This record gives sequence, structure tokens and C-alpha cells, in this order.
Amino acid sequence: MKNSSQKKTTIYLADLTYDTTVISLEHFPIAVGYIAAYINQQFPCTVEIKIFKFPGLLFDAIDKCLPDILAVSHFPWNKNLGIYIADYYSCRKTNGFVVFGGGEFSFEKEKQVSFFNKHKMVDMFVMYDGEFGFEKLLEKYIKYNGEKKDILDGQSIDGCVYWHRKQKKLITGNWAKRPDAIDDVIPSPYLTGLMDPFFNNPLLTPMIQSTRGCPFTCTYCWAGNKYNRQVRHFSTERVIAELEYIASFRKNSTNKLLTFSNANFGMYQNDEIIAEKIVDLQEKYGFPSSFYTPCGKDNKNRVFGIIKKIKNAAAIVSVQSTDSIVLKNVNRSVFKIDEYKSIVDQFHTEGIPVETEIIAGMPGETKQTHLQTIRDLIHMGLDEIHPFTLMFLNGTVLCTDESQNKHQWDKRFRILPRNFGKYRGKICFETEMVAVGSNTYTIEDYLYWRGLHGVLRIIFNYAFFSDFIQYLKEKKVDMFEFCLAFYSSVKDSKGFAGEQFRSFLREAHEEIWDTEEELYAYYLQEDNYQKLLTGEKGENLLGKYKVITVCEHFDAWCDFFYTESVNFLSSNTTLIDNIKSELSCIKDHIMGKAFNILSDETVKGKTIKRTIHYDIVKWQKEKNKLLSEYKLSQPITVIYESDEESKRTISEILTLHQKGKSDLWKAVGSRYYLPALFRKPYYTKHQTEHNE
Ligand code: SF4
Repeated sequence: MKNSSQKKTTIYLADLTYDTTVISLEHFPIAVGYIAAYINQQFPCTVEIKIFKFPGLLFDAIDKCLPDILAVSHFPWNKNLGIYIADYYSCRKTNGFVVFGGGEFSFEKEKQVSFFNKHKMVDMFVMYDGEFGFEKLLEKYIKYNGEKKDILDGQSIDGCVYWHRKQKKLITGNWAKRPDAIDDVIPSPYLTGLMDPFFNNPLLTPMIQSTRGCPFTCTYCWAGNKYNRQVRHFSTERVIAELEYIASFRKNSTNKLLTFSNANFGMYQNDEIIAEKIVDLQEKYGFPSSFYTPCGKDNKNRVFGIIKKIKNAAAIVSVQSTDSIVLKNVNRSVFKIDEYKSIVDQFHTEGIPVETEIIAGMPGETKQTHLQTIRDLIHMGLDEIHPFTLMFLNGTVLCTDESQNKHQWDKRFRILPRNFGKYRGKICFETEMVAVGSNTYTIEDYLYWRGLHGVLRIIFNYAFFSDFIQYLKEKKVDMFEFCLAFYSSVKDSKGFAGEQFRSFLREAHEEIWDTEEELYAYYLQEDNYQKLLTGEKGENLLGKYKVITVCEHFDAWCDFFYTESVNFLSSNTTLIDNIKSELSCIKDHIMGKAFNILSDETVKGKTIKRTIHYDIVKWQKEKNKLLSEYKLSQPITVIYESDEESKRTISEILTLHQKGKSDLWKAVGSRYYLPALFRKPYYTKHQTEHNE
């Protein structure tokens, strides 16, 4: 037995992510950083904490030196990995103490009991804010010198749940109140230096939190619980100091990204001061290079005022659904289309694109309500729509037995994209439980939606085809109807575009499994695991096919878009030759900008030459006149060429993400804004003069 007066209690604190083909979650492990900062403060000289993000390093550390306590976060993206590593540890240290904490834990007692019975190596689960439950546990751990039978003595520990094996009883402590002055209580993981080692890895992105908690109560989300409704703010002085600190590390880095873990950035007064600081850092250091965070759902004018100040900020307005019954069923307030539309218009006036997220298949959803949501958002002029499948998260109202009885969910299982690996010779991966049907929609509806989501990605997201869209809007085309027509044609289309799309549809069907057991049995076989490594299976399909569209047969997609646009417009006009000529010019322009963009040739400066008949650059910029008004008296040659910054970024993408296709799909799909990499059009001098 160790003597606490002679030896510190050693703790390995892990918030793991898979890094097999690509780092699955790129942000710094800030959640365990807060816990470490708090515990170090409360137990000075008594504990020694090491933080881990990558499983390989944690396995190595366990092999080298076994800690007294292994504390692991438990979320959908690392739950099986955590279980595996806890098993590995407890086999080597039978008196070691295993603590879990995180969102992936039901609040239903029976499910908690079955968790402890299934995972016997887990001694304790810390719920909600990990700092306080872990503190209480450590007090007892230290008091009893780590003796398990005394710690797990049947008395409750605040903030913790455990299973008393002898008494066969679940012991649940009280939940500590989140302190009002959270700033004074929990030190900063950045300013205490705990995050310093993570700056060395340019593939990791700093994450920061200025507000903890969310006042809303969405039933599908962990953050929607009663505990988390206690909203607390870290002081602006502290957040500003953290931003300065992070910038000092990252101002010369290749990765100048920054993420906020707030649920509602921009909704609170202190966010205004924080935004000023971000603008200041952008001006001084070019950091952060871009800014992504979910925007607040209330105080929309404040959110607008804040986002418009920050350079390269994307306004992400999470709508989820526009149907009032569906929204009511998940405890979200009614969606006011006019109000949102006016915010979207304001963003557009400032030249800021607006993105939104939607979830397909929430309670009460029908095939039509989801289609109507997409229709509403397209009509509102949203620039990007990110669709998600409804996922069941333990610890949410949606995942309870009551919800199952009420909505008769058809639940299926699939691999959580990119979350797999082989550690110490054993295959490990994560699965997610998703809704593909309920008492209001069928699996056929679900598969139809998935196909339409693929079309949305191709048509709208990343703005590859924004010139086609501008033209179609100019012709007063209803873009929702165009999407449906596009969907209907591409499914049966001959050629590469149709082939790729059918491959997407096939994978969308094949990725879902009736039972988790079948899924496990399949991927635990070595040859099937290899399919995860190559990207043949287990990818985020919308991300994968988006990048395939860009990198393989982009010309076929341009041709298909052109033909679809001609077909769609030809039913309403006799001027079809003019339309063909204008659309053909747009197609050439898009090819010039983006064909084979992610290639060594682009980095080496290869240019593309096109002859165009309309001053398309001017048309695009001015946006208020018809393309036909920009017809040139004679055609001109345009040289499309990448600027130095684009070449540098493309070179960075190709160098940093060459582990395989999966790596490239993830990086391009989520880390880079592709339109910023497009070649720029240059008119030759003579022709420019002529044109003028
Ligand atoms: S979905 Fe967003 S708004 Fe709703 S509870 Fe979760 S964090 Fe809060």
C-alpha cells in the first residue's frame, strides 16, 4: 500500500481520439485540461497528472509506468477505445482505480447498472462537470490510500455513480451546483501551461471556452440537460489572456485555426469584447485565419454584429428543422422564417456566407416535413446546408425507453466515421446508433433523404458551382425544384457523375447494420478492417463523395450540371441557344477555376486557358444584371492561375494529408475552404484593353 505522504497519486487523464488514417477529433483536449487544472489547484503536491489525447501514447505510458488512477472520457467517439484501454490497464494493475466521465452515460438507473455489469473494470463514473465529482472522489481516494473497498464502501460521493458489487446496489451522489464564479474556481488549462505540449502538433487545433452551459433543452443533445442549464461565463479578461497566449504559439504556425466549444457564441454581452480581441489578433498576427462556431439562437442582432466583425467567420445557424411540430417534439422553439430570413439577408449584405445544420428524422418527422425544411432553407438563401442523420446519444431524453415506446424508432448501427484503429494487435472501432425510421417515416424515406443530402452537398456546399446557381437564380429557377430534378436525373445518369452518385447511394444503404453484433463481427475480420483503412468503408459519406466529386471526374460533374440546367430551363424558353451559350461559358469558367485544383501541377503553377464569350467576372461581381448584358463583342482568352497563397495552401494539404485518401477527404472536407483555393482569372492585357 502506498503512503500518500511519501508518494504523489499518479493520474493518467485521457480524452482520446483515433489517429489511424487521420486525427478524428482535432481539437486540444480542453475538457480534461480543465479537470487537470482544477485538481492540481485543489491537491497541490499530492497528485501528478498526465494528459493524453492519442491512444498510442497512452498505451506506451501504461506499459512504462502504471498510474494509480486511470481516468478516461467516455463519448461516442471514444467509448470502446476507453473501455479497451481501461481493460488493458486493469489487467496489469489489479488494484488500479478506473474512473470514467463524459456524456455517453444514460441517466436511466437500469442502464447505468447494466453499464457497470458489462464493464466490470470501471470503478466510478463521474457525471456532468468532471472537476467536482473527480475532486470528491480524490478526497476519498487519498483519505483511504487508494484502498478500493474503503472508497467504494456504499456511501455516496457527490457528482459520482458507482456500483456496489457486494450489496448489488447503485450508489449515486448529489450533483454539485456549478459555481457562479466559475472563473475563480477553475483555473485556465492554457494559462497554467497544461495545453502547451499540444501546440507542438500542427494538426491539432486549440479549443477555447468562454461560456459553459446552454439555456436550451433539446432532447437529442447532452447539453440539453437540467444541470447544463446553469450557464456560467469565464471572465473576458481571462478569455482575452487565453487568446493572447494561444496566438503567441500559433501566429507563425501552418495551422491558424481556432475553435470555440461554446454552445451559443455571440449570444452574450461578453462575446462582444471577445470578438473585438479576435479581430485585433487577426489584424496583428493573421490568427485565427478563420472562425467557426455554432452561433447563439437568441439575440440574433448581437450575433450578427459580432460575426460580421470577424474575418473569415462563417455564420453557422443550426436550424435542425423548420417544422413546428418536430421542433416542439424536441423542445426547440418555433422557427420564425421571416426573422431568420432577415438575419440571413443582413449577413449576405456584408458578404458573409450563412451555413446551417439540419437533422433528418427527429420525432414526428415525415418525408414531407424534412423536404419542407430543405425547401424553406433553400428559399431563405442559405449558402450551405449540412444535413445529419438523427443519432441516439446515451444520456439524452431521446435515447430513453419512453422515447422508444412513443416513437417506435427503427434503430440501426454504423461505424462512426474514421473512428477505428489497431492497438496492441487488437482492432477497435466506434459505432453509432441512428434512426432510419419511426412511426412517422420509413427506411425508404430515410434513404431518399440521404440521396437528396448528397445532391445538396454537390450543388450547394463549397460553392464550386455557385456560378451555375447564380445563373439559375437569375432565370428565376426555384432551386429546391431544381435539386429534386437533379436528384431524379443523376440517379439514372450514364457516365462518371451517375456512376459516382449510385456508388454513394449504395454505400449509404450498406453502411447501416441491423444489429451492433453483426457490424462488430464484420469489421473485426482483418480483411474487412483493411477496408476501413483504405476508405472503402467507414467514411463520412457526404464528405467522402464531396471530395471525390472535386478530385475525380470534376469535368463530368460540370457537364452534368450544364446539361441539367439546360434541360430545366428549356421547358420555359424558346431562347435555348442563348441559354446554352451562356451556360457553356459558365462551365468553362468553373473548369478554369477548379479543375484538378488539388494537384502537384497546380502547386507547380500550371495554368488553364479558356476562351469565353461573356465578361463573367464582372457579371459575378456586380450580381445585378443579366449575363446576356455582359456579352463581349468578340471572345477573349482568360488565363486561370493560382496565386502564391493558394499554391502554398494546396502544397500544405498535399504534404500534411498524404496518409491516404481518408486523410485527404477529412482534411479537405472540413479544414479548408476550397473556394479560397480556386485559380484566379486573368484577362490578357491586349484583350482587357479591348474589352474596356
Ligand atoms: S442542441 Fe445546441 S441549443 Fe440545443 S441543448 Fe444542445 S447545445 Fe443547447
